[in-house]
Amino acid sequence: PQLERLCIHETVDEKIPIEAFADAFAELNVPVEIVGDDETFDRTDAVASFRPREAFLDAGWTHCIRAGYDEFDTEAHTEAGVPLTNSTGIHDTTVGELAIGYMVSLARMLHIYRDHQNDNDWLAEPPYERPFTVENERLCVVGLGTLGQGIAERADALGMDVVGVRRSDDPVPGVSELYHPDDLHEAIADARFVAVAVPHTPETEGMFSTEEFETMRDDAYILNVARGPIVDEDALIDALDAGTIAGAGLDVFETEPLPEDSPLWDFEEVIVSPHRGSATNRYHLDIADLVAEIFHQYQADEELRNRVA
Ligand code: NAD
Repeated sequence: PQLERLCIHETVDEKIPIEAFADAFAELNVPVEIVGDDETFDRTDAVASFRPREAFLDAGWTHCIRAGYDEFDTEAHTEAGVPLTNSTGIHDTTVGELAIGYMVSLARMLHIYRDHQNDNDWLAEPPYERPFTVENERLCVVGLGTLGQGIAERADALGMDVVGVRRSDDPVPGVSELYHPDDLHEAIADARFVAVAVPHTPETEGMFSTEEFETMRDDAYILNVARGPIVDEDALIDALDAGTIAGAGLDVFETEPLPEDSPLWDFEEVIVSPHRGSATNRYHLDIADLVAEIFHQYQADEELRNRVA
């Protein structure tokens, strides 16, 4: 059956202003409604949501407004015959710029200057050896999908030496050398920055742990803009404590919000951002464009973009 309604689940508000998101569908020729957990669905309903709900299995189609759909039960969607789509393909610029921001800050010490600014402190004698340029430094991007390519392209434009880890051999613009995931250690051993951009799957959980930090240079920085559990947080804290690696830029954590007592808050060489990699003032429009595109594909009985179940 055709879709007769677009339901926007209230959890969308966790990420984007829900009214502005709903308003972005003015062109859609069906009613758009904001719904809560008491709503029931049928096959003529489309649902866009931040969090999964069992009730969505009664709908015609469910869209996860995140790129990472690891909380959703893909098998249940497949069994119920309710297509599930995600929001990959749109975070190359936003998350790419965040990763560049981490690297430039970590290299040029902006985060440390800001810490001292908080105390009106000029920091007259920063260690001469500490700052460096990102130009000519090696970046290893682990996972070369939307995020990874967005990071790689921008790092290449800054004159960085970009290598990557990818399951396929297909070349990626701006990436000079590709390594298979089996050769992860070889790929990260010489890198000054390692950017984690794979999805959270059983395969990638704990992909970065003690061994990987020991393999990395002791003046290297790890950036995690993907999902917290891909990096073993206790092992990361130990590595930072021991100086096995130099620092980190982290947007995602095993537990979010990052607990107040996490040691990660207190490392001078760690930049913590509150899972805002995709956050810009037009994010609702980017997601709405994608949802509208898939909506029209569904109505036309075409293959759905970003279908994951
Ligand atoms: P994507 O599907 O476009 O890219 C993921 C890439 O990782 C694909 O190329 C895939 O082949 C590759 N991959 C999967 N497993 C791998 C493995 N074991 N080794 C090497 N490569 C592997 O997804 P995306 O849009 O780039 O997003 C990636 C992840 O980043 C999402 O799943 C999400 O969890 C996270 N994310 C975070 C934010 C944020 O706000 N910080 C925003 C968007 C996405």
